[in-house]
Amino acid sequence: MLEEFEDGGGLRLLLSGGEPLLYPYFWQLNDLLPAFDIRVVLLTNGTLLDRRSAALLNVHEVQASLDGLEESHDRLRGPGAFRRALAGLEAARAAGLTVSVASTVNALNVDDFEALAEIVAELDVWQWTIDVPAVAGAMVANPELAAPLDRAAAALDLAMPAGNHGDNEGQLCGAHMAAVMPDGAVVKCGLFGDIRGGTLERGLRDAWRALPHRSLDGLGEPCRSCLHLEECRGGCRYRGGGLDSPDPDPVQCHRYGVLHTCTKEVVG
Ligand code: SF4
Repeated sequence: MLEEFEDGGGLRLLLSGGEPLLYPYFWQLNDLLPAFDIRVVLLTNGTLLDRRSAALLNVHEVQASLDGLEESHDRLRGPGAFRRALAGLEAARAAGLTVSVASTVNALNVDDFEALAEIVAELDVWQWTIDVPAVAGAMVANPELAAPLDRAAAALDLAMPAGNHGDNEGQLCGAHMAAVMPDGAVVKCGLFGDIRGGTLERGLRDAWRALPHRSLDGLGEPCRSCLHLEECRGGCRYRGGGLDSPDPDPVQCHRYGVLHTCTKEVVG
């Protein structure tokens, strides 16, 4: 897969999970990485990283999850998880790796973000990504964890883009990304796990070609005439109602202050 990805001009490999450091073959995979001219980012909860393991990593960037301040992070992820995540980030930095933080907004942490911004600023990270999780997976069984959209959307503005240079890759999901699932299926992303291009046995390139690739043309009103279309690009298609849905992403609409009747759908 890595050979095909590199040959096809692939740029960035995100190693995620679950928790990728629990993958039984992680360190064998890690040994393969230096042979490829690909930027590799490890998305981790940070709790399994210490100075010894971080020094062995063949990745360029470690992105750890901080889901709020210590209390709310630990309520979600277990006692001690917040401090262990910070220690993991420090271990990665000591190993000379770029460090980043990823946060998701939920009902437990929605009021934490101003204070969390100060912690993240002190950490001097390359990037801080903030997202509002779609109501999927564990969130379906725990709907009380969904934050009110208007407050959640306000937190998104605190995110720090890569290198703080204000870049914006656009929000239209799936335009340039695919995910490989544990069974080898090549899919649009974890949320659209049922939209498969094929499996790795078929080959990454063929599977990529077989995936539906959306453009802005698939969006309807109000996105088409939205002042923020170029930057927002319709947002997340899962939150927008599906890959073929022309509807806007309510989270992005709240973020940009563009209100539509459809925004009542998403949370609560
Ligand atoms: S802000 Fe809303 S209406 Fe505007 S482009 Fe984004 S999703 Fe579409």
